[in-house]
Amino acid sequence: MKDLINSERLVTTFIDLAKIASPSWAEKGVIDYITQKSEKLGVECVLYPCNSSHNVVIRIHGDGGYIPVLFSCHMDTVTPCENIQPLVKDNRIVSDGRTILGADDKSAIAAFLEAITILKEKNIPHGHIEFLFSCAEEVGLCGVKGFDLSQVRAQYAFVFDSDGPVGKIIVAAPYHISMKIIVKGKAAHAGMEPEKGVSAIRVLSEIIAAIPHGRLDKETTANVGIIKGGRATNIVAEEAECTLETRSRQKSRVLSVKKEIETIAKKISQKHKAKVKIESTMDYEGYTITNSDTIVSIACNALKGIGIKPTLAVSGGGSDTNIFNAHAIKAINLSSGMRQVHTTKEYIMIPDLVNVAALVLSIIQNAKR
Ligand SMILES: [Zn+2]
Repeated sequence: MKDLINSERLVTTFIDLAKIASPSWAEKGVIDYITQKSEKLGVECVLYPCNSSHNVVIRIHGDGGYIPVLFSCHMDTVTPCENIQPLVKDNRIVSDGRTILGADDKSAIAAFLEAITILKEKNIPHGHIEFLFSCAEEVGLCGVKGFDLSQVRAQYAFVFDSDGPVGKIIVAAPYHISMKIIVKGKAAHAGMEPEKGVSAIRVLSEIIAAIPHGRLDKETTANVGIIKGGRATNIVAEEAECTLETRSRQKSRVLSVKKEIETIAKKISQKHKAKVKIESTMDYEGYTITNSDTIVSIACNALKGIGIKPTLAVSGGGSDTNIFNAHAIKAINLSSGMRQVHTTKEYIMIPDLVNVAALVLSIIQNAKR
């Protein structure tokens, strides 16, 4: 498969895409690029509105002798992403250091477009294939959450949104709950009658110090990320709040940590005669795919077919993969070769970019029933 990839063309596509600024909800330039490429290749490309942006689906109909598969990646990037100047240095593509590169996740977009081009060019046999390009992934998996997944025919989804060398397969990722604790105390003049007040800051501090924090076990974490509160040093703080999260690959565990946090917050607030309000949301569900699953064997065989050793791994982070799995589309997250993502040092090795395109073609071949 690797010899079919036109590495020069692939790098050009990647650089074209990297230059198009596409912060979350403003992916229009990338959407237009994908649409135009699809028109040129003569493949079906449909835009699905999602708030102020769109998700994009390319469908390629094929032979029933293959299992229908979905490939997915996201079109948005984190910031700074204005005026990205990609530079090729030996075998590596970098930004000029002022911005991110956007290999997260444009490496996958470029590789998908290259694979589609080759499918058409070389008339390679294939089954029903769908490519989903999601919007607003970086701000809470919003694109895929806002997409009607009943539109997807595939039972298996190969998401390319993991970093590191090509070959890594994420087979498990956590459940994720975010929470907000809002403490209401009683304001008073801090110099004249502090005894009449109840400091929401003190109460919240006691709560934060008492709740589970950091790594709780191999599969579970908790973290307070934001605290806010108070108005001035001469006022006993009336209100204080913090935002936190907990994650675990075990659903029961993430729910029990949430419960424990709620219990502690209520108990401490009561002790100090403060009021407390606790908000919580399950942002996404976790997943665990067993090593013997068909989707894992397709990916492993596809990797071996292009001379790459597969590595199965678990992740501490969420991705569109979580949403597919929660909607009964079995999904794994594969590396798209990107490195040092979400930093201005982000880069991708050209051989990795080529490997991603080859892997897509190899998966298509290995989906034979
Ligand atoms: Zn990403």
